[in-house]
Amino acid sequence: MRVASLLFLTLFISACGGGSSHYYVSGESDSGSVNVSIKNEGLLSAMEDGMFGTFATGGNCDLSKAEYLGKAKSVVDDINANLDILSAFSPPVYSVVAKRAPPREDGEIAVYLCDEIGFRAFTLYRSVFISNRFMEEMEEAALEWGDISILDSAIAYVIYHEVGHAAMNHSAVKMPFGTDDGGYHFDMPQEVDADRFAYEMMTLTGKNMLGMVMVQSLDGL
Ligand SMILES: [Zn+2]
Repeated sequence: MRVASLLFLTLFISACGGGSSHYYVSGESDSGSVNVSIKNEGLLSAMEDGMFGTFATGGNCDLSKAEYLGKAKSVVDDINANLDILSAFSPPVYSVVAKRAPPREDGEIAVYLCDEIGFRAFTLYRSVFISNRFMEEMEEAALEWGDISILDSAIAYVIYHEVGHAAMNHSAVKMPFGTDDGGYHFDMPQEVDADRFAYEMMTLTGKNMLGMVMVQSLDGL
């Protein structure tokens, strides 16, 4: 990856599940949703398209080749069946869509599946990027746990967590540019809130909580 791209990543994205990051389930936080100004919303939206362009070369984000697209779409369907929760956020979310490419529509959260993104998963404003390699990693873990059915709930947990970041505008925490600590990850309060959202969604949609436990047990998280 080009140096410029890495710098871009370092400053602006908020990744989950890489380096020293953790998914947290417990803890208290008052941060919740982050307000985003009109100006920053426009800037963040432009950055989303740029980020996709950085990754999409060479078929890296070719949705038609994403092995776990069916499972991801199933999770997205579950979210769309509970949009009353998401429409309460500001700006409101009216749909979550596994997308082939930008543009992302207003009121939409885009989910992209890419082979290599340098992280397991991350969210830039209202765009969620999930690594296909991470999906494979979860499948291997589920097999090790002796219950492949855990994979579905593990994928649901990851997508719910990232959609939680997106709905709560957590990327806006990084604005204005250059004021963060250079880290790759959302701060702990945002992780707690994304996990709280994921937990509530898993409860609502009847997912096996072992999926969440399994993801949190993976090395490097
Ligand atoms: Zn996170």
